[in-house]
Amino acid sequence: MLNLIAFDADDTLWHHERYFKLTEAKFRELLRPYAEPHHLSEHLLAAERRNIAHYGFGVKGFVLSMIETAVDVTDGRVAGSVIGQLLDAGRDMLRHPIEPLPHVEATLDALSGQYRLILITKGDLFDQERKLALSGLRDRFEAVEIVSEKDEATYRRLLLKHGTTPETAMMIGNSMTSDVLPPLAAGAFAVHVPSEHVWALDQHDDAIDNPRFFRITNLSQLPALVAGLG
Ligand SMILES: [Mg+2]
Repeated sequence: MLNLIAFDADDTLWHHERYFKLTEAKFRELLRPYAEPHHLSEHLLAAERRNIAHYGFGVKGFVLSMIETAVDVTDGRVAGSVIGQLLDAGRDMLRHPIEPLPHVEATLDALSGQYRLILITKGDLFDQERKLALSGLRDRFEAVEIVSEKDEATYRRLLLKHGTTPETAMMIGNSMTSDVLPPLAAGAFAVHVPSEHVWALDQHDDAIDNPRFFRITNLSQLPALVAGLG
């Protein structure tokens, strides 16, 4: 029997990736005198991939990867004013408004009382706390976990910590690599809710053959899906 439902936050409860896409467009514009746009995007993605292990997930690591790329593609000649504008763009990202995505509040209301609801998110601690506070959703969850990595071991540890087993838990999120595959591997249910924008390092197109895997187009479909599990 299902007992606990865990939600991802970024691009599941509120917009996130769109701000990275907007900032990357600004980055390509600023560096246009130095390099081709597609070359810049490739370079930036390679920097992000290299730096994840050092900086973790979030805005600060993204800004450092933009600066690193700017220095690399210009052989160190990038103007200080450009670096300043990249830092400004990063600060803007840390101030962007937060509004719950459609159906979020109604879905959480429909499920609360019947199931224990928790939030599991990764990213910069300070930024995740800021977004959660601004979202107005904090009180809908009995617990919030901000972690540095969402892998199978993390899910096993968190579910144990919250007094449940993977077999009676479900994870909901927009990322196949963070919110679906690891909880499935741990033995939990997992529901994929695709988001408008997908981070290149989160792309995953393989078919999933697992009776505990579900995909819905938006969160309004979740209460019926959960009720159907019996
Ligand atoms: Mg997400």
